[in-house]
Amino acid sequence: MRMNLSDFLKQKIEQFEPTPVVYAYGTVSRVGDGVVRVTGLPGRSYGELLAFDGGAFGMAIDLEEDGAGAVLLDTADVVSVGTRVRGTGRVCDVPVGENLVGRVIDPIGRALDGAPLEVKQYYPVERRAPDLVSRRAVDTPLETGVISVDSLVPIGRGQRELIIGDRQTGKTTLALDTILNQKGKDVICIYCAIGQKASTVSSVIETLRAEGAMQYSIVVAATASDSPALQYLSPYAACAVGEYFMEQGKDVLVVYDDLSKHAVAYRAMSLLLRRSPGREAYPGDIFYLHSRLLERAACLSHEKGGGTLTALPIIETKGGNISAYIPTNVISITDGQIYLESELFHNGIRPAVNTGLSVSRVGRAAQPQAMRNVSASLRIDLAQYREMAVFSRFGSDLEASTKKLLESGERLTNLLTQAKQLHYSLSEKTALLLAFKHGGFDDAEPKQMPSAAGALLQKLHEACPEAMAHIDRSGDLSEDDKTALLTAAGCAV
Ligand code: ATP
Ligand code: MG
Repeated sequence: MRMNLSDFLKQKIEQFEPTPVVYAYGTVSRVGDGVVRVTGLPGRSYGELLAFDGGAFGMAIDLEEDGAGAVLLDTADVVSVGTRVRGTGRVCDVPVGENLVGRVIDPIGRALDGAPLEVKQYYPVERRAPDLVSRRAVDTPLETGVISVDSLVPIGRGQRELIIGDRQTGKTTLALDTILNQKGKDVICIYCAIGQKASTVSSVIETLRAEGAMQYSIVVAATASDSPALQYLSPYAACAVGEYFMEQGKDVLVVYDDLSKHAVAYRAMSLLLRRSPGREAYPGDIFYLHSRLLERAACLSHEKGGGTLTALPIIETKGGNISAYIPTNVISITDGQIYLESELFHNGIRPAVNTGLSVSRVGRAAQPQAMRNVSASLRIDLAQYREMAVFSRFGSDLEASTKKLLESGERLTNLLTQAKQLHYSLSEKTALLLAFKHGGFDDAEPKQMPSAAGALLQKLHEACPEAMAHIDRSGDLSEDDKTALLTAAGCAV
């Protein structure tokens, strides 16, 4: 029997069972400087998104019995005392996926480059770090292309290496060079800008675009004009975006530029939330702020896909003081640091790596055999030179052997200087250090070292391309390659 439409609708209406959605509502009891206090809304979870009437969102970060302290993620004008708030049950999340490559986003996934962003999947910004059994030892190098770093403080994939130095010492440049050097190496690079001027961030993006690095890079940015809450979320969001690729078995590099500004944004947030201030007015959980972020860098086991996430956090020091509160915290969390020094930078030694204070605690295990072979005595040679250089200031007539050592040290220091955006391949770095060790540069003026190095490399590429290609392919320096390189460079074998 066919039912007519009105009967059908009547039947449907009678059968309709309303399923109520219960929202608990609270009210805003205080608002100011992007921070709100909500009362009458118990049972929130840490990091939960709160929806305000009027469309604004906030994040609960201070949980209390009958409410929460929250930070606003949007402009504060739509929120005032008395505005209704409800919990969403969702923690802060960020879009992830392949389509993010080449894009610029903010920490909650809004595209900043003008084009629409199609979202398929979200990851919460705060995630647990992989546990011990899901990890394996770091064993593959992540080459920066910078000779002083790759020879003395090598970085392995899955490692956390801190770049630390005063303002304007080339920290960002070193991190950017590392990203540029990953071209064609199948590494997804994420540049996370925290609290920087918008103009600085846009010039970084410009460099990445101009060098063709946006094809494998993502920029997550919260600039100085954004709310402290967005700046606070920025590195966690960048890490979550990277974790997606790591879990697909890929290699990821994340640069956090910089964590000092991150700590300052968190301090501002905490003070506004009336948390009790501790040392330097930072809140008590400031160590946890960075440890839980950097612990998420990992080298996953083969059972988990074998992906890696390498973290290059940046810290800005004041007056070269690396033993201040935030720098020591982050130094103790990371697996080593590259210390860039103002004095070296102003003396034209760029990158201004202080080789005495820079260290990589796990990278040596990942260093290719060729590099290990030629850089073994480098650190001692440099230390000897520095000691001698200080000593020689006192007297003018030096012994011939001392003079020789000083000249050689000066040559080595100049060999380790490198223009920005000039990247050496493994074979090139190996060849330069090998030639240096065997007296290939003994006739060069120390100041002319960069051009002498360039000329030598050109000669080697023409004379023994097979040996160079073999080193790049295998990572090893065989006896045959060594003989070929030294002969072509005109050194005694
Ligand atoms: P800030 O503290 O402002 O973030 P920073 O430490 O990140 O500064 P950069 O912005 O990377 O420093 O570099 C400062 C200046 O030094 C830039 O103008 C950059 O071009 C120059 N510079 C950095 N490294 C080199 C290099 N290897 N060769 C030549 N110039 C360099
Ligand atoms: Mg910088």
